Amino acid sequence: MNLRIPGPTPLPPHVIDAVGQQMIDHRGPQFEAMLQDIVSWAKVFLETEGDVYLLTCSGTGGMEAAIVNTLSPGDRVLAVSIGSFGERFAKIASAYGAQVTMLSYPMGSPADPAQVAAKVVEEGPFAAVLLTQNETSSGVTNDTEALCRAIHDAADPAPLILIDAISGVPAIRLCTDAWGCDVVVTASQKAWMAPPGAVLLTFSQRAWAAYERARMPRFYLDLGQARQYAARHQTPATPSVPVVFGLHASLERMVQEGREAFQERHIRIGEYARGWVRTLGLGLFARPGYESNTVSAVKLGSQADAMQVLRALRERYGIIVGASKAPGVEMIRIGHMGYVSEQDLDEVFQALGEILESAG
Ligand SMILES: *Cc1c(COP(=O)(O)O)cnc(C)c1O
Repeated sequence: MNLRIPGPTPLPPHVIDAVGQQMIDHRGPQFEAMLQDIVSWAKVFLETEGDVYLLTCSGTGGMEAAIVNTLSPGDRVLAVSIGSFGERFAKIASAYGAQVTMLSYPMGSPADPAQVAAKVVEEGPFAAVLLTQNETSSGVTNDTEALCRAIHDAADPAPLILIDAISGVPAIRLCTDAWGCDVVVTASQKAWMAPPGAVLLTFSQRAWAAYERARMPRFYLDLGQARQYAARHQTPATPSVPVVFGLHASLERMVQEGREAFQERHIRIGEYARGWVRTLGLGLFARPGYESNTVSAVKLGSQADAMQVLRALRERYGIIVGASKAPGVEMIRIGHMGYVSEQDLDEVFQALGEILESAG
């Protein structure tokens, strides 16, 4: 089976072994040492010297944590959306009573930093801006550095910058401290190469100042609780111990490989995927220059039926890729983050070429 959806991603063998271990006391020294390692290793990839927390929930839970720990009902929030995960971030903020202003871009486009800045100036003040680093539904990577700079330059004090980096970091570079990001959310089952169920998120000093004022309801995701327990390298409630085992094993190797090498490997694999798309005469959904190095959204042409292609890949070749998230567009999404080789992609694209050829 060749699992090439944009998360969960396949586990390397040493991670599978780690996940299968006997349970341990989550308030004992072995767990505490493990959590301490995970947080310090994660900081290397998140490029922060600030706080990093491990929460056990899916990525969406991490997005919810970013909102409820920094905002109050009625707060004005600018949601910059370039696809379905950008929409989700906005919906979470609305669900907790924020007053959300949308700045939406058509699928395939990145956000325009000048337009974001203009919105902050003309329609602000906003308590926070919500950004997506890498939009998994369209295979687009935003210029997050330029967006952060534009927001910081547009207002003083700048709104908080909350970033869904779930399918980007650690594969795609994001400099939490240098770019002034307040909360950066990532999830274990994407490029961290661990099972689903854990979130690693950053929380800046500005975010802590906002936390003191924030009145949205929270309990399980209360980072004040997380901070108290983190002082002892523990979590407030029972964490998903197998996921933590997996994340620890994965990060140990990732740190050995090094952040730059890890990220350069993703640039190469992204280019390799795009080379195959050109070879097959297909197109990408993403605007040129903004193609994601972790997921390729491939347009199949108007004659093709994406559902039939997905079924043929699964039934004839044992290859699982992601379905279209754009209504009316025949596309498939191929994940290439974490534990992936050029050979894995050769299998996917050779099969895709055969299927499209046999369908005429
Ligand atoms: C996968 C993903 C999510 C959702 O994560 P879950 O773990 O499924 O809750 C959110 N945003 C982006 C960009 C993603 O790729």
